[in-house]
Amino acid sequence: MAVLMSPPRRSLTGWGRTNATLSDVLELPDHELPAAIKEAGPRGALVRGLGRSYGDAAQNAGGIVLRLLGAARQAVLDEQLGMVTVSAGVSIDDLLRVIVPRGFFVPVTPGTRFVTVGGAIASDIHGKNHHVDGSFGNYVESLQLLLADGSIATIGPHQRPDLYWATVGGMGLTGAILQATLRLIPIETSRMSVDTTRMPDLDSLLAEMSSSDDDVRYSVAWIDLVAKGRNLGRSVLSRGDHARCDELGPRESVNPLAYGPHQLLSVPPLVPPTGVLNHATVSAFNELWFRKSPRRRTGQIVGIGAFFHPLDIVGSWNRLYGAKGMLQYQFVVPFGQEAAMRTVIERLAASGAASFLAILKRFGAGSVAPLSFPAPGWTLTLDVPGASRALGDLLHGLDRVVLDAGGRHYFAKDAHTTPEAIRRGYPRLDEWKAIRDSVDPHGVWQSDLSRRLGLTDSTHV
Ligand SMILES: Cc1cc2nc3c(=O)[nH]c(=O)nc-3n(C[C@H](O)[C@H](O)[C@H](O)COP(=O)(O)OP(=O)(O)OC[C@H]3O[C@@H](n4cnc5c(N)ncnc54)[C@H](O)[C@@H]3O)c2cc1C
Repeated sequence: MAVLMSPPRRSLTGWGRTNATLSDVLELPDHELPAAIKEAGPRGALVRGLGRSYGDAAQNAGGIVLRLLGAARQAVLDEQLGMVTVSAGVSIDDLLRVIVPRGFFVPVTPGTRFVTVGGAIASDIHGKNHHVDGSFGNYVESLQLLLADGSIATIGPHQRPDLYWATVGGMGLTGAILQATLRLIPIETSRMSVDTTRMPDLDSLLAEMSSSDDDVRYSVAWIDLVAKGRNLGRSVLSRGDHARCDELGPRESVNPLAYGPHQLLSVPPLVPPTGVLNHATVSAFNELWFRKSPRRRTGQIVGIGAFFHPLDIVGSWNRLYGAKGMLQYQFVVPFGQEAAMRTVIERLAASGAASFLAILKRFGAGSVAPLSFPAPGWTLTLDVPGASRALGDLLHGLDRVVLDAGGRHYFAKDAHTTPEAIRRGYPRLDEWKAIRDSVDPHGVWQSDLSRRLGLTDSTHV
C-alpha cells in the first residue's frame, strides 16, 4: 500500500469555511478502499463527497478522509425501468447532464447540483418537493456499502433494511457508499413552469403554503429575515413543476430536453477578510430582491438551473463571507408550532444577524430512517456570517425554542448544536447507534461531527 505511506495531509472545512481541521486525504479507486480503512488509526476514516455540507460532517481531524473516484459516463441508465446505477462519487451535476437529455430527472435535488450521490444518501437530502415526494432515501433501490471489516454489503429497503435505513441520513458513519441504483422521474422537457408570488408577511405566507402547497410539486419561499414589525416574514413564494412540451414556446420546442448549465462567474480568492456580506449589504440586497420580484406571475418558463440551483451560477460564492466564513442554521418544527417559528424569526430580525439566504419550506411525511432530518412541519434555513460569542448565544437560545416545540436540527448544515440538542431532537438515536455498532464494533467510521455530537461515542471514542 505505497499510497498510504505518505498520504497528503490537508486542511478541510465544510461549505461554511469554519473550523478547519487536518486529515490524511486519499483519493482511491473503490477496490483499494478496504486496504485503506484497515490502516486507519484511532481517529478512523470517513468518506467525503464534494464538501457541500456546511459544518464538520465531511471532516475527520487526525484521521483518514477518503475521496471516491467515479465517472458519470459509467452510469447505467435503464430507460424502461427509469432507473440509473451510478458510482456514489458522481455528482448530481454530472448525473443530470447524462439523464436530462434522455428525459429523466433526479427525484430529489438540493439547492446545489454540486453534491455527490453518496452525500445525498448519507444526508438523506430533501428538495422543494419534500411535501409531496419525501427525501432522497425513498428513491434508492439498492446500494453497495463498504463496511468497517472491509466487506461489501448490498443493501436497500428490501435487503438488510435496518442497515439501509441507518445508512440513509447516517452521515457516512455506517460505511462508505460505493454505488447506488436510483429511481428517476420522467420529464418531457428540461424547463420548469414557475409561479411567483410576493407575500407581505409571515401570516399570509404560512396561510398560503398551508392551503395550496399540496397542489404543486415544488414549493419554496425566500424570506427577508431583516424585515421587522408589520413586514416580519415578508417573502417571495416560488412554485413550479416540470414544463410539458405544449407549454414551451417555438424556440424552446426545437430541443425540449436541451441541458447544459454553466457558471457565469466565480468569486475570486481575494475577498476582504471581513467579507462583503454584513447587515448593511444584506438589508439592501433583501429590499431589492423583494421589490424586484413580481407581485404575482404565473407560468414563467425557466431552466432547471435557474429554478433549482440559482446559487450555482456564481462559483465559490461562500467566499463572500470573508475569513470568518458563515454558519448555516436549519431546523424543522412540527405543524401546530407556528408560534415557535415566529419567535425564531422575530429574534433573528431583532438581533441584526443578517441572513441573505433564508428559505422556508413545508415538509411532508418523514422517512423511516432513524436519523433522517425531515419531519412533517416547517423548516427554516438561514445563513449568518462569521462566528462570535453573541451569535453562539443567539443560536443556542433558538435551539431551545426549536427543541421545546418538538423540532430538530439538520446534521448536514450544523456546526454549532450540542449532543443534548441532538439527543432531544432525534429520539431514535440509540436505535441507530445499535445498528451502527453491530457493523462497526471498533469505531472505524468517524467524523468531526460524530465526535462533536456524540454520535459515535456509545462504546468507542
Ligand atoms: C448551496 C447549497 C444548497 C443546499 N441545499 C440543500 C437542500 O435544499 N436540501 C438538502 O437536504 N441539503 C442541501 N444542502 C446540503 C447538501 O445537500 C448536503 O450537505 C449533501 O450531503 C452534500 O453532499 P456532498 O457530496 O458535498 O457531501 P459532503 O458534504 O462531502 O459529505 C456530507 C456527508 O455525507 C457523507 N458522505 C459523502 N459521500 C459518502 C459516501 N460515498 N459514502 C458514505 N458517506 C458519504 C460524508 O461522510 C458526510 O457525513 C445544500 C448545500 C449547499 C452548499
